[in-house]
Amino acid sequence: MTDLLTAALQAAGRGWPVFVLGRSKRPVANCEPCRQAAETGSDHDPASCGHLTCHGFYAATTDPDRVAAIVAAVPRGQLAVRSGAVSGLVVVDVDPAHGGDSSLSDLMTARLVPRTLHVHTGSGGLHLYYRHPGQHLPSRPMPHRAGIDIKADGGYVVLPPSIHHRTHRPYQWGTTARDLVEMPPALVTACQPAPAVSSPLAGLPTIRQGGGISHPSKLLAAHLDAVRRAPEGRRRNTLYGAARGVARLVAAGAIDHTDAVAALTDVGHLAQQSDREIRAAITGGFRDEGIAAA
Ligand SMILES: [Zn+2]
Ligand SMILES: [Zn+2]
Repeated sequence: MTDLLTAALQAAGRGWPVFVLGRSKRPVANCEPCRQAAETGSDHDPASCGHLTCHGFYAATTDPDRVAAIVAAVPRGQLAVRSGAVSGLVVVDVDPAHGGDSSLSDLMTARLVPRTLHVHTGSGGLHLYYRHPGQHLPSRPMPHRAGIDIKADGGYVVLPPSIHHRTHRPYQWGTTARDLVEMPPALVTACQPAPAVSSPLAGLPTIRQGGGISHPSKLLAAHLDAVRRAPEGRRRNTLYGAARGVARLVAAGAIDHTDAVAALTDVGHLAQQSDREIRAAITGGFRDEGIAAA
């Protein structure tokens, strides 16, 4: 049995649907009928087409016989696994060539990326594997984090022992952490597109009505959202402004002091503010609203 087949069967045995990319990491070409179907725009459903290697990740399977047949059909290809709800996987893809290393250290500082099962990619990058949170999570670049892609619903990643087509180095499982861990709620939030102001945010503190504020949860979300959306150069001021706004919610009894500081701290980290900047903004904002910050 080849290493590729062994790895493919192991992954499938974990319930991860696998398929095989071409040697150049591109999907294998569709067969002629499927290619024509795609070109003519006929209502050919890639998900139910059933061909062994057509339609990229739609060919992924956990069936051992099919896995073996796919590997036999593309013996020198790259093994890949579908990410997303279908496999229960979310992969944080760190690309050092585009600033991923410094983004990763920011994420680690903010405790957004706990140690977990991971792969050292053939191009010097890192894939951090987490359990899919259950809610829809699109595959997309991580907002505000250069060089970090989220591979989730609708995505896939290359698995060991594939060989990178340019560096000729293998993808390898990391040896320091082997458990697939849950995504912290703050990581799920950080992976989402910037939410509309009125949408519910994950991990928000308990909100109480009253205190003369008619929509405290909307107000809080708007303050936090402003920080998340602030352009570089405006983030510190925006965080200070948000701290003042949130301080008024605390004064009105709509939110606990501790929760308020935690929410502002989290969003400050998301906006790439240092701990010192965050403390200064919160202390200043609370003080200017007549509330002690600590
Ligand atoms: Zn086909
Ligand atoms: Zn097809």
